[in-house]
Amino acid sequence: MAWQEERGAALDAAREACRVCEAVREGLVSAETLWKGDRSPVTVADFCSQALICRRLLAAFPGTAIVAEEDADDLRGAGTSATRRRVLEYARMVEPSLSEADLLDALMLGRGRAEPAGRFWVIDPVDGTKGFLRGEQYAVAIALIEEGRVVLGVLGCPRLPAAPGPSEAPPGGLFYAARGQGARALGPGGGPEEALSVSRQGNPTEAVLCESVEAAHSSQGEAARIAEVLGVRAAPLRMDSQAKYAAVARGDADIYLRLPTRADYEEKAWDHAAGALLVAEAGGHVSDAYGRPLDFAQGRTLRANRGVVATNGALREPVGRAVSRVLAAD
Ligand code: AMP
Ligand code: MG
Repeated sequence: MAWQEERGAALDAAREACRVCEAVREGLVSAETLWKGDRSPVTVADFCSQALICRRLLAAFPGTAIVAEEDADDLRGAGTSATRRRVLEYARMVEPSLSEADLLDALMLGRGRAEPAGRFWVIDPVDGTKGFLRGEQYAVAIALIEEGRVVLGVLGCPRLPAAPGPSEAPPGGLFYAARGQGARALGPGGGPEEALSVSRQGNPTEAVLCESVEAAHSSQGEAARIAEVLGVRAAPLRMDSQAKYAAVARGDADIYLRLPTRADYEEKAWDHAAGALLVAEAGGHVSDAYGRPLDFAQGRTLRANRGVVATNGALREPVGRAVSRVLAAD
């Protein structure tokens, strides 16, 4: 079967990264948060996760470029030495002999070129950093792109409840999908695999719609109007990160809307690659807000797309119509 070795390496990398992220989260103090130029919080966990994933993927597939969110320069500037030390300390949980130079070199690997017709990894070391900082949802996302299409997606969601609603089971899920091979979930302890499938909900009034917690990342006003047009009764399920794609892929939610809040915003490839394949392989449908397929041949961003609409497939047409109607009215 295609992509088996890649899958093994990406799953191992995601598992390790999730373990370290949880260790950081448990010990997090706000002083460890730096602020990048775009003012999104970036923590010890982001750098640590990215460095470890890049090293593992490079070792297994030395010729494959890596495109990752964080930049080594953000860990080199004035006033970053304490954070750099903490990143190294946590990274040594996985790689005890790692040096500071190795760490910075590993972070640099994420600057790889995304050739439109080529093969490259796309990594979000901590997707939903704001959720991470709030102790809510975040995800470690790894995807492999070939010729502009996602062929493998791995999502680690350490805080995702085992099932919707109150549960005794510890949180945490690891999900993966390979193109044409379906989507699967592994339990928190790496326990038995389960095939993932979207819900069969075809009645919009009974549907569960999910969206970002952060109003700056997706227009919640437009989503509310779309929900009204559809007659959706339940309040939106708000969660950070690509855990939303996992929620749709396993049927906790039926619709995921990400509606542009700014005309000039280009969605980042690492915010969608792994999750979009997960939903598609679980039987759902993913497009942008105008019904166009997500185009991963554009490099670091999805510049040929605007927003994202993911559904369980059964709701694709009514949701598509409602989204068009509301966006056209604005
Ligand atoms: P979420 O957790 O779904 O709200 O998404 C988190 C991601 O939103 C971050 O990783 C950012 O890359 C991305 N992001 C930042 N600003 C915007 C924006 N204006 N519109 C959409 N996504 C954004
Ligand atoms: Mg992200």
